Amino acid sequence: MLADYAVSESNSRGRQHPEASPTARGEFQRDRDRIIHSTAFRRLEYKTQVFVNHEGDLFRTRLTHSIEVAQITRTIARALALNEDLAEAIALAHDLGHTPFGHAGQTALNACMKAYGGFEHNLQSLRTVDLLEEHYAEFDGLNLTYETREGILKHCARDNAARLGELGQRFLDGTQPSLEAQLANLADEIAYNNHDIDDGLRSGLITLEQLDDVAIFAEQRRAVEARYPGLGGRRLIHETIRRMINLMAVDLIEQTRANMVAAGVKTLADVHAAPRLVAYSDTLRPALGRLKGFLRENLYHHYQVLRMTDKARRIIADLFGAFLADTRLLPPQYQRRAEDDAPRAIADYIAGMTDRYAMKEHRRLFAVGEIH
Ligand code: MG
Repeated sequence: MLADYAVSESNSRGRQHPEASPTARGEFQRDRDRIIHSTAFRRLEYKTQVFVNHEGDLFRTRLTHSIEVAQITRTIARALALNEDLAEAIALAHDLGHTPFGHAGQTALNACMKAYGGFEHNLQSLRTVDLLEEHYAEFDGLNLTYETREGILKHCARDNAARLGELGQRFLDGTQPSLEAQLANLADEIAYNNHDIDDGLRSGLITLEQLDDVAIFAEQRRAVEARYPGLGGRRLIHETIRRMINLMAVDLIEQTRANMVAAGVKTLADVHAAPRLVAYSDTLRPALGRLKGFLRENLYHHYQVLRMTDKARRIIADLFGAFLADTRLLPPQYQRRAEDDAPRAIADYIAGMTDRYAMKEHRRLFAVGEIH
């Protein structure tokens, strides 16, 4: 069922630590299963996407976001005869390295780590599956296949890429990852551009009236209203958003097919050598740009979101500063890691925290009157 340009077990570069083949499932299914059983994956439930977990029960968390990304990825992968198991594994793992408090947390931790090699959530996702997970007797991390790791590493600065060997090579020579990796990357965008509208409306930070100025939303809303006159409330929002997701997914499938034909792509080697193939059409891309701009201006930079962002920055900076000043404040397993590289061990500890764990740890260290 797989196309020749898809990743398969026969063209896979395998695992870092050789293992016997799994019984009753494929190698990429095994990757997906290992990701789902990991500690980092469960923590996603209590990590911020845009809204902090305790702000409301119905907003997306990193976990529900990752599941939506996996759903969109699988649908498109199947339509393009790509390796659905691999694409799903990449999608489920893509945010494992995220800090608490979303992008605010990442920015804060990166600032703390400025003099020590920086912090990048994408690289941290790879570090989580390669090193930090403690699940198996014979190796650190999850020992995932090369192709899943390649997909997890979406971006990478050149100096980091040079340190990563084979996996970092494509960032140095400008070649492309598998179509499954390219796809998971754009499915991430389809998921958040749509669910952030939903969460933004639910929170009241953005309104339906404001969205009249966003053509891609307004057009789909008009189509829903023409078909179901008088429909309002949640159903109007959900009917509009589901049409938007479908529009973006179908556009991506058709444009990607056209790009493959134009580039004469037949095999996986062709995919690596070709320009980036998974892409939106020239008609959709500017419309998506306007939607993103709207969300940035009106949701991500809303003063109520920025207040949370600012608090998150202070919590992370405080924690980092306290641990760096005295690594004996770290839990014992991180103290051991800190003997080799204290800033990195601290960054690993903080990045692994859920929102509420970070807040609790901050109270333990800073609130007068707290005992433990
Ligand atoms: Mg994501």
